[in-house]
Amino acid sequence: MKITAVRAAWLRAVIPAERAHRSDFGLNDSFNTCLVEIDTDTGHTGLGEAKVGVGNLGNYAAIVTLIHSELAPLLIGRDPRDITALWETLYNGTRAHYVAREGRTFPIVGRRGITVSAISGIDIALWDLLGKSLGQPVWRLLGGRLRDRIPAYASGGWAPVGGVGKQLRQYVERGHRAVKMRVGLQDKSVDDSAARVREARQTLGPDVGLMVDAHGTWSVREAQRFARKVADCDLGWLEEPVSPDNVAGQAEVRASTDIPIAAGESEQTRFAFRDLIEARAVDVLQPDVAIAGGITETVRICALAATHGLTVAPHLWGGAVLFASGLHLAVATPVVTTLEFSRGENPLLHDLIEEPFELVDGHLVPSERPGLGITLRRDVVRSITVAP
Ligand SMILES: [Mg+2]
Repeated sequence: MKITAVRAAWLRAVIPAERAHRSDFGLNDSFNTCLVEIDTDTGHTGLGEAKVGVGNLGNYAAIVTLIHSELAPLLIGRDPRDITALWETLYNGTRAHYVAREGRTFPIVGRRGITVSAISGIDIALWDLLGKSLGQPVWRLLGGRLRDRIPAYASGGWAPVGGVGKQLRQYVERGHRAVKMRVGLQDKSVDDSAARVREARQTLGPDVGLMVDAHGTWSVREAQRFARKVADCDLGWLEEPVSPDNVAGQAEVRASTDIPIAAGESEQTRFAFRDLIEARAVDVLQPDVAIAGGITETVRICALAATHGLTVAPHLWGGAVLFASGLHLAVATPVVTTLEFSRGENPLLHDLIEEPFELVDGHLVPSERPGLGITLRRDVVRSITVAP
């Protein structure tokens, strides 16, 4: 089996103004991602997704060029089933041959940022291909299912005081048993964020899980003040209280509260997660499979988390290919106990594939079909592909 082509495309789905939410990232009036497709001489095509940012905005021209001009030539002619060898080739460049002999990595300058994102998209496509070539779902390749279904929490909650309780209540009415709302600099003040969280807890009652995400926007002191003000709201986690650049500050926040700290959506490779763990800065690791290094690297990150008694809640703010990756990983990996289900307007999650992700009793059930089990709607892909 040989790789014959590697294709990348910038998908940009426009969101009508009346359905676009506003956050600290601005008005979210489009959803963007990079779709990766790997063709083989057996007629199978693997699907991957690579993201250059944690949100839904962003320019994907550079990553498309990177995949076509720099990474594709390293893959053409290779057997796509040699996933580990291909990952090391992409990550270590011309020194990849040392890996088999020495057993460690030899990254070259430039193997961070969008290169690791690009590797992520290619790696996901290779796992999809392996499953398709064997006629097995990806979760079986990862060791089989240890759970039949996985709870999905609703990720949204941007509304102001007086509206956020109702907004979150609507997610519960759609079946979710846990919800996540945004706080931080999108609000007028720490007090405003705390008031919104209080309203949320009062509206939801004690039995619905409630998490908050500050998008890394607070200072250490603001985050600590917030944690103190909502100490009685029984929060599942406080996500990115401070900037991901301030790992020591995040550890300081964590040491001062018993609210679990979640983080890691913009981190890449197991090495960055090792650093977060060693700094004692995190309770819940949130690798994004389309950013952190693909399924291969996220499995390694999950092993690290399990070793340290931490949990993993993959960041899944993206398209259907990313979401399917997270779902397959979650049912096969003990340490992943919940999935993020975006409740912002997301055409790339809901309109891109033939098989919609159906929430059943607040849970998602992985497909039995080979690979990631998803089929692209070619008409939709064509209509939202940004011309190269
Ligand atoms: Mg987040």
